[in-house]
Amino acid sequence: MHTPILIVGGSLVGLSTSLFLGWHGVPHILIDKHPCSSPHPRAMGFTETTLEHYRAVGIADQIPQVPAGTRLRRVTVASLVGEWQSEQAWTPGEAPQRPLEQSPCTGAAIAQDKLEPILRAAAIARGAELRASTELIGFHQTEAGVLARVLDRSSGHRYEIGADYLIAADGANSPVREALGITRSGVGHLGVLRSVLFRCPEADAFLRRGAQQFSIEQEGFRGFLTTYGDSRWVLMLDGDEERTEAALKAAIRRALGADMAFDIFTTGRWEMAGRIADTYRQGRVFLAGDAAHQLPPTRGGFGANTGIDDAWNLAWKLQRVIQGAAAPALLDTYDAERRPIGWLRHQQTFSRPDYAARAGAAFVPEALFSNDALEFGQLVRSQAVAGAGPELPAAATPRQWAGQPGTRAPHVWVDQAGQRRSSLDLFGREYVLLTANPDWRAAVGRLGLRSIDVDRELVFPPTQPFADVFGVPACGATLVRPDGVIGWRSLPAPDGEGLESLSAILLRT
Ligand SMILES: Cc1cc2nc3c(=O)[nH]c(=O)nc-3n(C[C@H](O)[C@H](O)[C@H](O)COP(=O)(O)OP(=O)(O)OC[C@H]3O[C@@H](n4cnc5c(N)ncnc54)[C@H](O)[C@@H]3O)c2cc1C
Repeated sequence: MHTPILIVGGSLVGLSTSLFLGWHGVPHILIDKHPCSSPHPRAMGFTETTLEHYRAVGIADQIPQVPAGTRLRRVTVASLVGEWQSEQAWTPGEAPQRPLEQSPCTGAAIAQDKLEPILRAAAIARGAELRASTELIGFHQTEAGVLARVLDRSSGHRYEIGADYLIAADGANSPVREALGITRSGVGHLGVLRSVLFRCPEADAFLRRGAQQFSIEQEGFRGFLTTYGDSRWVLMLDGDEERTEAALKAAIRRALGADMAFDIFTTGRWEMAGRIADTYRQGRVFLAGDAAHQLPPTRGGFGANTGIDDAWNLAWKLQRVIQGAAAPALLDTYDAERRPIGWLRHQQTFSRPDYAARAGAAFVPEALFSNDALEFGQLVRSQAVAGAGPELPAAATPRQWAGQPGTRAPHVWVDQAGQRRSSLDLFGREYVLLTANPDWRAAVGRLGLRSIDVDRELVFPPTQPFADVFGVPACGATLVRPDGVIGWRSLPAPDGEGLESLSAILLRT
């Protein structure tokens, strides 16, 4: 049995990888050792960037998005029903609401076990082959490919799957990463938390006050209470202590602070840690998601969202290499682009008040980037980007950027043939050159690239002209990669040097 790509792990990141590969038309097999989603969801906050990726592949309308400007709020209380004692900002000094219109999406609050079935169905509809209850029990790689040994846990049958590439989306304890001996760095182990998941519709009324996360502080009792928005609540308790059902019920009552009816579903145990893999690639194996970067849950959504963004970055590169449109060197840019993002998020997590006290004395805090800079304005540097020089910051807000290579192409509502579209809707499947200069269009036509005439095909709003938001004058051009990252731009009209640098950035075979 052979497949171009074998994905190990079918949780949020593996399923998103499968969905993106399927959408790019890349055949693949995904295996997960479990029969279905975990009954104890973890993630529930999905950012605008994640929703932009889901919008590109056509599933954003299946995921209810939060109203524009919604912010996750955390307060300290004696109990859910008690007075708010204080409110903690994720990024101190930042307004609770961000300016609108930086994205066509607003993010989503949906429990992981409700999102995963949507991803699963969408991946299958786009050609994915998903094998549940199938565990990777060993593998080896050669220069030519990867041979995986798997166990069908429902029948006990063992068999092999050959693949050109393997993507390990197998979680923080990643057996694949461990087998490869890939080490990790970062603040390391911070502690273990126990959780209890329960249903309590009466508690939902307290969400109307505007906060969704509650740090419970009482004499002799501390906990962290939050909701999955569907009458399911989770209480997190510090420490690796096994509790009886009676003790769990008592803890829930203390956290709620009033006599409310509730039913316990299940319990969980989580390691809180900060660890980034020292490489995201070894030979034909790529690490994605928590296998690559283990971060504690943050209000920046740096866990699953970062992993889904890994998948978005990797999928188009694999497609181009597998289909022979790019040199294998394009795959080297995955580690080059994504590992610094993992580190940026690690440093920003432990420099913020939520986690600063846990990071340890050896951790040197860094200046904070704003939420918007981290969400929309992280810079990527690699061989697949020309001109993201060392003078540029690691992140800046969309308003501070103006189309520099290495940044996300800006979102602007444009008019295309009478239809209002986000500029982001122009990208996704292929490289696109935006220019008003017919000489650039003729030049890239000879290279087989798609170009858009920004004067004739698109109408930019008068307050956001193309030249300003993309930073390109009328004679110049800008190249947007399939993942919506600006890969190259030329301020002058085409000449030999400009065409050479454009050809080089495409990393063609
Ligand atoms: C309490 C909590 C709340 C969180 N909230 C958020 C949030 O709101 N937003 C956010 O972005 N992040 C959040 N996170 C982080 C987020 O849950 C993780 O980053 C995310 O689930 C990682 O996804 P993953 O697919 O990389 O790994 P995992 O979800 O760990 O999945 C790994 C998968 O690999 C499979 N697997 C492992 N080994 C094998 C094998 N040998 N063979 C086959 N399959 C295998 C497992 O069965 C599993 O399905 C939260 C985390 C916690 C603990």
